[in-house]
Amino acid sequence: MKIDSIAVIGAGVMGSGIAAQIANAGKKVLLLDIVPEGAEDRSIIAQTALKKLLNTKPAALMHKRNAKNITPGNLEDNFNDLATVDWIIEVIVERLDLKQDLYKKIDAIRKPDCIISSNTSTLPLSDLTAGTSKDFSRHFLITHFFNPPRYMRLLEMVVGPDTQPKVVECLSHFCDYKLGKGVVKCHDTPGFIANRIGTYWIQTALLDAIRLKLTVDEADSLAGTPMGVPKTGIFGLMDLVGIDIMPYVLESMVHSLPKHDPFQEQTVIPDIVKKMITDGYIGRKGKGGFYRLS
Ligand code: NAD
Repeated sequence: MKIDSIAVIGAGVMGSGIAAQIANAGKKVLLLDIVPEGAEDRSIIAQTALKKLLNTKPAALMHKRNAKNITPGNLEDNFNDLATVDWIIEVIVERLDLKQDLYKKIDAIRKPDCIISSNTSTLPLSDLTAGTSKDFSRHFLITHFFNPPRYMRLLEMVVGPDTQPKVVECLSHFCDYKLGKGVVKCHDTPGFIANRIGTYWIQTALLDAIRLKLTVDEADSLAGTPMGVPKTGIFGLMDLVGIDIMPYVLESMVHSLPKHDPFQEQTVIPDIVKKMITDGYIGRKGKGGFYRLS
């Protein structure tokens, strides 16, 4: 198996960052997203993502000369191009129904040896592949990149019972030697390794800061550097990740964890966070978040 051509579906925070990392490695990548209702430019989401990649602060996620490796487009008009690529990376919103729907469509057109992977943070692999063919499952696995993909070395890889060893071997090699990732194989358990710990830890910091009436700075001085997040702090990390994805991640954890798991009590979304999402304060990709945009 070989990986020469790649498509990333979902040009949000992670999809664009993953496409940039692939482009930085000198590989061509198609970056696709949905067509927003009424948009004149049908590929506006991917086009805008590409521009943002070159202007991310404090450090760009992609060198200008590598931008030519990314072809932005939209899923409707470019769907048939997916039939020609060696690896399709699904990086759309954390919703099982949308991901499953997309896989069924990909299953109908993918070329025989095409590898398909999901960047899901929390959804079980066994749920993701429900409704697809056995052969799709043989070529499917989870490749969980971390944010921002250019700087975070860890990549969690979740392999299903049907995933072929040659698929795992090919993708592990590519992610390690081409994308510079440290690949860690995980079991198909809720939140895998990092998010099982991370979501608990973020929710605890958030709920305790509210309970103790701490400012964001005070909370981060307690739970940022001392907990090993010196640059952004936990609240800055939420701004980086995107505050709007929190409800999806928590809902997925609630659904996947056993009823008696202690984390079930931590999954409430505080009213202040709900209001921030409604008002567009969803972090760095929005109007700012717990911290103002610099
Ligand atoms: P995002 O909201 O920034 O981007 C999601 C993109 O998917 C949007 O551009 C949206 O238009 C597009 N989209 C929605 N429905 C679609 C569809 N049906 N077809 C094609 N595109 C569609 O989200 P994100 O933060 O990039 O997260 C994407 C995935 O990566 C999720 O599964 C998330 O759990 C996972 N993840 C996120 C982070 C993070 O730090 N944000 C880290 C690791 C993994």
